[in-house]
Amino acid sequence: MTIQADATQDNASKSGITPLVAGNWKMNGQRSSITEVMAIRDAILEAQNKPKTDVMICPPATLLMVLAELIDNSVVAFGGQDCHILEKGAHTGDISAAMLKDAGASAIIVGHSERRENHSETDDIVLQKAQAVHNQGLMAIVCIGETKGQRQAGLTIEVVSRQLAASVPEGATAKNTVIAYEPVWAIGTGLVPTLEDVANVHKAIRKALCERFPAQGANMRILYGGSVNPTNAQDLMSVENVNGALVGGASLKATDFLQIIDVYAPSD
Ligand code: PEP
Repeated sequence: MTIQADATQDNASKSGITPLVAGNWKMNGQRSSITEVMAIRDAILEAQNKPKTDVMICPPATLLMVLAELIDNSVVAFGGQDCHILEKGAHTGDISAAMLKDAGASAIIVGHSERRENHSETDDIVLQKAQAVHNQGLMAIVCIGETKGQRQAGLTIEVVSRQLAASVPEGATAKNTVIAYEPVWAIGTGLVPTLEDVANVHKAIRKALCERFPAQGANMRILYGGSVNPTNAQDLMSVENVNGALVGGASLKATDFLQIIDVYAPSD
């Protein structure tokens, strides 16, 4: 697939959807990392060609409140990385959507493959978590994606469609729900699907969203995630139906994350 110059801007403006570039810090980041977020904020505020994208960072919960109090969420918004299905109670070590909202989150990632794998989270659990996020009036970033074995068996579309149907609540809207397509084998590996493969999966996701949510599906954001970096972001974000990125490793350093955000900066 050949990508034309400025195709990213074209893709974003043709769709009429405001893209979202979200950083998932996972279990990384301490007080010293606050300066990285300040650098991102400052660069966005100072940019001549301001990126036409929503920017979000999902830090560890320990940093959420301090970041949300320090930084205007219209410049950089903040999200949680996971939440419990319940609002409160005897669940040692867990955190609820209500608590994350109270700390300053406007969104919460649910169903990340590391949660699905390491914590045996099923589609049904992810569905309940997404519902808990919606119940707080927050945006759920629902992650779906196939494993390497599923891809090799030709099951990508089947797996992604099943996860989508079973993990996204009935009340999903373009405002309260973002889908993140993250091939499991691409996360943290430096491997990425071909642009054709990304286009095919995102097209299938869009079709499924439009069928299930006729009034909303066309406007729901579908992010690509999995080894997005400053070098490949322009091409990946230019693919039709890719409305931004969920970025892991490359979101930890302001300089890298800013280059990814910058693919949505209008050129002179
Ligand atoms: C992620 O974990 O959501 C992710 C996309 O990670 P990375 O960008 O490091 O592959």
